[in-house]
Amino acid sequence: MFGLIGHLTSLEHAQEVAHELGYPEYGDQGLDFWCAAPPQVVDHIKVTSATGQQIEGKYVESCFLPEMLSQRRIKAAIRKILNAMACAQKNDLHITALGGFSSIIFENFNLKDNKQVRNVELDFSRFTTGNTHTAYIICQQVEQAAQQMGIDLTQATVAVCGATGDIGSGVCRWLDQKTDVQDLLLIARNQDRLQALQGELGRGKILGLEEALPLADIVVWVASMPRGVNISAIPLKQPSLLIDGGYPKNLDSQISQEGVHVLKGGIVEHSLEIDWRIMEIVKMEAPNHQLFACFAEAMLLEFEQLRTNFSWGRNLITVDKMAQIGAASVKHGFRPLL
Ligand code: NDP
Repeated sequence: MFGLIGHLTSLEHAQEVAHELGYPEYGDQGLDFWCAAPPQVVDHIKVTSATGQQIEGKYVESCFLPEMLSQRRIKAAIRKILNAMACAQKNDLHITALGGFSSIIFENFNLKDNKQVRNVELDFSRFTTGNTHTAYIICQQVEQAAQQMGIDLTQATVAVCGATGDIGSGVCRWLDQKTDVQDLLLIARNQDRLQALQGELGRGKILGLEEALPLADIVVWVASMPRGVNISAIPLKQPSLLIDGGYPKNLDSQISQEGVHVLKGGIVEHSLEIDWRIMEIVKMEAPNHQLFACFAEAMLLEFEQLRTNFSWGRNLITVDKMAQIGAASVKHGFRPLL
């Protein structure tokens, strides 16, 4: 059985969902309440592969909210992720994806040193970040959407915001080795990590957001921002493609510049209906078919009986592993959202 650990995008979102699910007493509560709330298994899932194989899984809501980072409630954030992992393990989930900020918190706060969660000794081989499949799907979105828009990638400039991150660096490796884009613009805050990535790739220009965006035919957004940024004052190329893979989204509002196409990044569509409720709660447009690519990675590992932490650690995503999980993705009936 596979598992998915997820969270909602903001306190407001959590309050809204509580009302929708018929818990008004939770819907009126503030951040303190969510800091104290334990993880919950809130969905039982059945997925059928395009091959006919069937698997089952559970969704664990960690009750983490991004405000816990910005309001310096780091201890609560860490507790949420460790408790959700212990909950997944106690439910006997063999391979569980750490969705959204769960894996970022795990890495940023070195939670591999916190194996003991009360009476549960965490076995990290039962968890995956899901980032290899996410990076693969985002690259497929770049390639396929560029083709639809008539953008020739060998002549194109692609900016990656969050380039030094786990997903961002995987995306840069693929765009460099497989897609052969003309120019790569690398955006993040820490200059040492940017220079290390530039050294590894042997290419790429390091630029700030304001300088990079007007030059880019395509922008991949994979920065770990607790809240989206407003880029309405920055002129963008026409046509251009913005692929927003952040969760919560990196872009805070609809972009209304003519010729600018925005695509939800890191989202896959499954060819068959998935029997679950959770994607409705996160407002996916076609909730029985669409899901986050990181969640799909746990399903793929279960389908393939590869019950191991396929994506683990930081900045270790290789092009070969992206191709491997990509082949499984196609085989089992997933395709990138376009
Ligand atoms: P990482 O923490 O590994 O990397 C984050 C990157 O963002 C780093 O390069 C970081 O560099 C950069 N960054 C953070 N804040 C800013 C900022 N304000 N401006 C510019 N760059 C910034 O994160 P992941 O790669 O694991 O995840 C990236 C995003 O993808 C997250 O939003 C996550 O929730 C989402 N995600 C989506 C999935 C899906 O299935 N669609 C699956 C998993 C994750 P620096 O700190 O130097 O600025």
